[in-house]
Amino acid sequence: MPPLAAFRRAVRAAVAAAFAFALGLAAAAPAPARSALPSGDPVGPRVELTPAEPRAGEMAVVEVDCRPRGGLCPEGLSLRWAGQDIALFPHPVRGPAFRAGLLAVPLTAKAEATALEALWSEAGRPVSRPVAFRIRAGVFAEEALRVDPRHVHPSPQDRERIRREREELERIYAAGAPSPLWRGRFLAPVPGEVSGAFGTRRVFNGELISRHTGVDFRAAAGDPVAAAASGVVRLGKELFYSGNAVVVDHGAGVFTSYSHLSRIEVGVGQRVARGEGIGRVGATGRATGPHLHWGVKVNGVAVDPLALLEATALLARE
Ligand SMILES: [Zn+2]
Repeated sequence: MPPLAAFRRAVRAAVAAAFAFALGLAAAAPAPARSALPSGDPVGPRVELTPAEPRAGEMAVVEVDCRPRGGLCPEGLSLRWAGQDIALFPHPVRGPAFRAGLLAVPLTAKAEATALEALWSEAGRPVSRPVAFRIRAGVFAEEALRVDPRHVHPSPQDRERIRREREELERIYAAGAPSPLWRGRFLAPVPGEVSGAFGTRRVFNGELISRHTGVDFRAAAGDPVAAAASGVVRLGKELFYSGNAVVVDHGAGVFTSYSHLSRIEVGVGQRVARGEGIGRVGATGRATGPHLHWGVKVNGVAVDPLALLEATALLARE
C-alpha cells in the first residue's frame, strides 16, 4: 500500500476508535494504541492524566509529552473531552518538550470508561487519537438549610435579575485570558476549616434542592479574603444569590470566585497577586451566616476548589 493510503487508513481507524469511545462502545472498539498503527504513521505525543481516574466534580492534570516526536509538539495540538476544550500551555516545570492542561469532570458525570481526543495537524492533514481513561463516582452528602424565603421563591423581577447575572457570568467565563496568569500552586483564600463541601445536595427551607458548586470556609465577618493565585479581576459587584462577589481570571480557562463578602476591595480589570486582599468575609446574598463561599471554574465547568489546590501543586511540583 502506498504510504499516503496507509496514513489515511490509520487516521480513519483512529477517528473511528474515538467515535466508538464517545458512543460508549469502548469494549468493541479496536485497540487505539499507537503501536497498533502501521509503521510510518505520525507518532503522537504521550498524554498522561493525574489522577488516572478522576472523580466526578474533581479534575485531572493533563501532561503532554512530545519527546516521542523529538521534543517538538505538533502543530495545532489540542485536547477535547465531552465538549470541553482543554487549554494547553507550556509546562511550568518539565521543559519545552511538554505541555500541560487541566481537565474538569462535571459534578453530574457518570462513573464510566471514556476517552479524550488529541487533535493536531500533520503536513496539513487533521489527525485524531483517543486517550482512554475512567471516571470514578463522586461522593456527595445532603444537608438542609434555612434561608430568607426571597432566595427560595424569587419574585418575577428577581428572576429577571438572576437571568441577567447568569448571562453576565457566562460571558465572563467564556472570555478569559488564553495563557496562565498564575505561577506555582493556588492557596486557600482564608485560613479557616471547610464547613461545607463541594457538590452537596442542599434542601433550602424544606423544598428547594440545589447542588453546592463551591466550598464553604468557616470565617468571621470582616476577616480578610485573599486571591488564591495571581490573575485579573473580571467582576466585583453584588449578585442576587452570591451577594457581594469577586471573580478572578487566572488564564488558561481557570477562574476563582469569592461570594457573600461584606466588602469588595478590588475593581474590574485590576491585577491581583496570590495572597493579595480582595475583600472581607460577610453574609450577603443567599447565606445562613458569615462564611466564605469559594468557587472554581475550569474550562467552563464548576469543580471542587480543593481539587484545584491539589492539581496546581502537582503541576508546579510544589
Ligand atoms: Zn457555599
